[in-house]
Amino acid sequence: MYDFRLDEVTAWIVGKQARTIALQMPEGLKSHGQALAREIERRTSGRCVLIADPCYGACDVDRRFTDYADVLVQFGHADIPSMQAGPNVLFVEVFMDMDVSDLLPQALPLLKGTVGVLTTVQHVKMVPSVVSWLESNGHHALVGKGDSRIVFEGQVLGCNISAVEPLKGHADSFLYIGSGDFHPLSVAIETDRPVVVVDPLMQEVRELGELRERILRQRHGAIVRASQAQRFVVLVSTKVGQSRMDMAWKLRRLLEDNGRQADIVMLEEFHPDRLLPYEADAYVSTACPRIAIDDYLRYPRPLLTPVEVEIVLGLRSWEDYRLDSITGD
Ligand code: SF4
Repeated sequence: MYDFRLDEVTAWIVGKQARTIALQMPEGLKSHGQALAREIERRTSGRCVLIADPCYGACDVDRRFTDYADVLVQFGHADIPSMQAGPNVLFVEVFMDMDVSDLLPQALPLLKGTVGVLTTVQHVKMVPSVVSWLESNGHHALVGKGDSRIVFEGQVLGCNISAVEPLKGHADSFLYIGSGDFHPLSVAIETDRPVVVVDPLMQEVRELGELRERILRQRHGAIVRASQAQRFVVLVSTKVGQSRMDMAWKLRRLLEDNGRQADIVMLEEFHPDRLLPYEADAYVSTACPRIAIDDYLRYPRPLLTPVEVEIVLGLRSWEDYRLDSITGD
């Protein structure tokens, strides 16, 4: 099912004359790690080290690799060009070309007018055939290219749906190819247009209207709970592609200018237990936008996004709500 593109990977490793190679991959690919390591060692004169720590995205390059390896190869994610990971890091997109021919007809009645097509990096190779299928089934289809955090046409990240920007005012609905609901949920909240998920792994089609309403209710609740908060802790990630220290300082100033107390706390892995020593009525996450949405139930205090802080302080209206994003140039 997966194409690890080992010819390209080994050519790059040999070109780098690398002796020790660190291999990083997300949870879903880790079970392939040992076989990949053996094959890379067989094809090169190098030796491999497998990194078992979680790897959530290209934002999450394990920078400690320079202590013990010459290069790092991260499988499963496209580069985030604006992050500039450095010349000794290789991102290997693992493309999955899956059959969705049974699913597309189910999506058809849920789509309206001109359709914007979006996906994650695993499925970007499927975009042209899905566009052709839509065109031959009565829909004009559009694909946008995102900002400098994005490599491929139509590609979105959980933190970046800038591929939607050029389609605003043109697309009447969106078709998202991929698993999970976070990426298309951002699109549904941002555009207020129908978003239909064609999920090749689950082999199912779903529309996100109900989930959109549920998450908006949840976020509204978090904002109301935080409205009386006096002490805020602003959380900053040390992960290279999701560290927003400048934003954290701005938020701290904003909170203080509006009569609140705020401290900045840095951490690599977000976990409620790590925050126990700190006094806080509410937390603000400047890291991966998914954390505040996916993990909100795990935290004993409201965990807000930067946009939500503006609403708490009366500087932005609820009608102007959007999910947090990390943008490039
Ligand atoms: S910040 Fe979050 S959504 Fe963005 S690439 Fe990293 S893990 Fe993915």
